Amino acid sequence: MSALEIRSVRKEFGGERVLKDVSLAIESGEFLILVGPSGCGKSTLMNAIAGLEPVTSGEIHIADEDVTWRTPAERDIAMVFQSYALYPSMTVRGNISFGLEMRKVPKAEREATVERVADLLQISHLLERKPSQLSGGQRQRVAMGRALAREPKVYLFDEPLSNLDAKLRVDMRTEIKKLHQRLGTTIVYVTHDQIEAMTLADRIAVMRDGNILQLGTPDEVYNDPVDIFVAGFMGSPS
Ligand code: ADP
Ligand code: MG
Repeated sequence: MSALEIRSVRKEFGGERVLKDVSLAIESGEFLILVGPSGCGKSTLMNAIAGLEPVTSGEIHIADEDVTWRTPAERDIAMVFQSYALYPSMTVRGNISFGLEMRKVPKAEREATVERVADLLQISHLLERKPSQLSGGQRQRVAMGRALAREPKVYLFDEPLSNLDAKLRVDMRTEIKKLHQRLGTTIVYVTHDQIEAMTLADRIAVMRDGNILQLGTPDEVYNDPVDIFVAGFMGSPS
């Protein structure tokens, strides 16, 4: 069973075809990385999966259910994007548990989840702070905590680390990898960082101009690129 299946998805803005005919099946527990140059359609594809933008045609299935016309809230996904909008007036605790409150999860269960997630991300000492009292890296952890608390079927990460400095990026990368190994979650993760892609991915999808050019393991994409574009993009040996 695929955790996520994208079937012939096309997306146009005005007359511009931004996703041309994208198909992709992601296994349960898989860490899929989406790479490609700026403007090739990565975020558009993520937004389509999330339900933030309707597709022009095609279908999106999550856990074998057609969710193409469902709202984001009805899709059982959680997103962590580059600009992680935390609620500024709420504490870290409030930010993490808000989604659970919306879903009417009982208080005791919410509190247990917040403690567990905070422990996992090492932000237990920050729970009573407001977002303005946090560093960029800490905010990013809170954004991730909010996603983890929901325990969705699929996580979507769109360049989640690109606003962080180099050292933090490496730390967070290691942590995301550990989380994935520990929780066995299904993740679609966009990055323009080839090293991030090579170290995190089970498989890499290389996009260009609204198409997926190659889909394979890091080893396949790096050592056996389908064309000169993929080779150049992945920095393959010639
Ligand atoms: P990437 O994330 O790979 O950098 P995007 O998916 O953000 O690329 O953008 C792909 C193309 O779609 C770009 O040419 C962009 O200008 C266009 N685009 C994205 N969102 C919109 C929108 N809401 N309206 C019009 N054009 C858009
Ligand atoms: Mg983008």
